[in-house]
Amino acid sequence: MLAYTYLGEGRSALIDKPMPQILGPKDAIVRVTLGCICTSDLHILRGSVPRAVPGVTLGHEMVGVVERTGEAVRGVKPGDRVAVNVETFCGECFFCRHGYVNNCTDPDGGWALGCRIDGGQAEYVRVPHADQGLTVIPDGVSDEQALFVGDILATGWWAARISEITEEDAVLIIGAGPTGICTLLSVMLRRPARIIVCEKDSQRADFVRRHYPSVLVTGPEECVDFVRGHSFHGGADVVLEVAGSDDTFRLAWECARPNAVVTVVALYDGPQVLPLPQMYGKNLTFKTGGVDGCDCAEILHMIAAGQLDTTPLITHRFPLNRIGEAYRIFANRLDGVVKVAVTPDL
Ligand SMILES: [Zn+2]
Ligand SMILES: [Zn+2]
Repeated sequence: MLAYTYLGEGRSALIDKPMPQILGPKDAIVRVTLGCICTSDLHILRGSVPRAVPGVTLGHEMVGVVERTGEAVRGVKPGDRVAVNVETFCGECFFCRHGYVNNCTDPDGGWALGCRIDGGQAEYVRVPHADQGLTVIPDGVSDEQALFVGDILATGWWAARISEITEEDAVLIIGAGPTGICTLLSVMLRRPARIIVCEKDSQRADFVRRHYPSVLVTGPEECVDFVRGHSFHGGADVVLEVAGSDDTFRLAWECARPNAVVTVVALYDGPQVLPLPQMYGKNLTFKTGGVDGCDCAEILHMIAAGQLDTTPLITHRFPLNRIGEAYRIFANRLDGVVKVAVTPDL
């Protein structure tokens, strides 16, 4: 089968690989019906994810149909349409039992797919811990509607969940890329009094204005003043930093009011500075990534109920055999791209 493979820093190729096999009783083999390219894939290609294993098939955003299951799998069966979770987790260790599935201590726990084990930019994928890693897609929810449930929408949902948002709050979201938009949609469901999005890219800012007219949009240069002028207590009550640019970590805590929650969702390419003397007395609470992706069933329920719709994010569609071109467009943000859906050719 065809599999888009990471070959080491800066190198990748679509190569022929053997079909994945069931390796353990909790595994499932999923025929990928729709996949996607994530910014995290670009981070791997740039060499900024040290645990990524050269030779691994990329891709951790996909939906598909269960082909085969190991003998201990109970939650899904062959023929089920499923959303694949970016995180595979055992469901039993200390971290899993507390909902901290990102830090599952199992060897295949956390973000393994498309990083440490073969992922889903391929025709088939093996999913360990299938009972936790796969969620059945309700009838009436399409592949495109479910495509982001296991990763970027799970991330936005988790970020909104841990950020202690109330209906009195002014919430600032920094970054309106795909994960930023998923975060925005999840924050909107919590109905804070005001939502401000900071985005420097004019196409992305326009995307927010066009699709979500109740949201205020500002740019990074004027962001601090804008947030002070449009929040209720001299700064945002909650800040979610989803941009991961050189200066957005600083912007996040600068825009926060004293005693605010600052949730850092972004995956940075380099270390960030935490200037404690300057922020002394501001009494901030920082929460950091990555996602505990264990709410997929609830998210799919919200999609089925018409409360969440991420399909506007899919701006481009490519077959798997042209995935290199899809990467070029996505990595260089050409042609107004937000997300590229990839269909395996069978
Ligand atoms: Zn991702
Ligand atoms: Zn675990």
